[in-house]
Amino acid sequence: MSVNAVVMLAPGKPLEVREFADPALEPGAVLLETIASEVCGTDVHLHHGRLNEVPYPIIPGHVSVGRVLEARGVSTDVLGRPLRAGDVVTFYDVHEVCGRCWHCLVAQQPNRCPNRRVYGITYSAHDGLLGGWAERIYLKPGVKIFRLPEPLSADDVIGGGCGLFTGFAAVERAAPQMGDVVVVQGAGAVGLSAAAFAALRGAGTVIAIGAPAARLELARLLGADLTLLLTERSAEEREAAVRDLTGGRGADVVIEAAGNPAAIPEGFRLLRDGGTYVIAGHYTDVGSVAVNFHADVNRKHADVRGQWGTEFRHVYRALTLLAKHHARLPFARVIGARYGLGDANRALSDVEQLRVTKAIITPGLQNR
Ligand SMILES: [Zn+2]
Ligand SMILES: [Zn+2]
Repeated sequence: MSVNAVVMLAPGKPLEVREFADPALEPGAVLLETIASEVCGTDVHLHHGRLNEVPYPIIPGHVSVGRVLEARGVSTDVLGRPLRAGDVVTFYDVHEVCGRCWHCLVAQQPNRCPNRRVYGITYSAHDGLLGGWAERIYLKPGVKIFRLPEPLSADDVIGGGCGLFTGFAAVERAAPQMGDVVVVQGAGAVGLSAAAFAALRGAGTVIAIGAPAARLELARLLGADLTLLLTERSAEEREAAVRDLTGGRGADVVIEAAGNPAAIPEGFRLLRDGGTYVIAGHYTDVGSVAVNFHADVNRKHADVRGQWGTEFRHVYRALTLLAKHHARLPFARVIGARYGLGDANRALSDVEQLRVTKAIITPGLQNR
């Protein structure tokens, strides 16, 4: 038997569906039948070669949901709950954090561990089915498998995808106070998640800035109180709207989830003196921008923080809250289109052109 998987051969080259041998499981490994894997902005950037140290060719797809097909000596998920064939699970896409280096032990920042690998990004296709745009996903020994909590479906999880966890992490990093005014720049999956969790955390007002209009409708659905359409309001109008709401002071917290350097100077203008600015949308290198550190940071007494990747706790806490507040946080509705493996090129270009908010790859589509 063989397994079909999408391979990104190198930046700029069309994606191809290739056949891989059905993998033999080593002790501690688990094989999933892929239900869905996300397409996110990072995949577009990977295709443009904007992330360093990517071992092309790769099988893209970092956050995925699958059904357990086979497990070799693994009988529980990461939380010790029984794991059986047929269970629907997701897994923490980051693997091989070492627990033994300076970053892990002293700084306690495993997201900067040099041994860290990520499914669908920093594993080569030569090393196996280590990405989600494939009929099967090979979970190496030690991968943190998480059985979906009731009542979550695969769509609920993959509708937010990695953005669900990154947006959660950005809110945790920003640590808004109850009643704060929070501005979220960007209404892709990260921005939608940040708006949703900021609202859930008790923000007084959540303002989402982004485009196109359909994304801002989703932001309102998920908890934003006010939305500002980028294509309809000038930067001056956006700033005036935020100042109007805050007695002229600006927002207590700004979360950047735009992935566009032009958002940064605006973010500082929207931030009040002594406010907190979290940069979460620059996961790949999209270029530089001029910031006046006197006016924007020093005199403003701003607290500026970066958020790099996610930890397992973000996955756990975000999904636990998603399960509890299932009706309030309908992330399945963020899914805009589903693509079979053979449509991966179209999926990437649809995401790049903002034709769809969350695109997902469902390998089963073409088999049925
Ligand atoms: Zn380490
Ligand atoms: Zn992603």
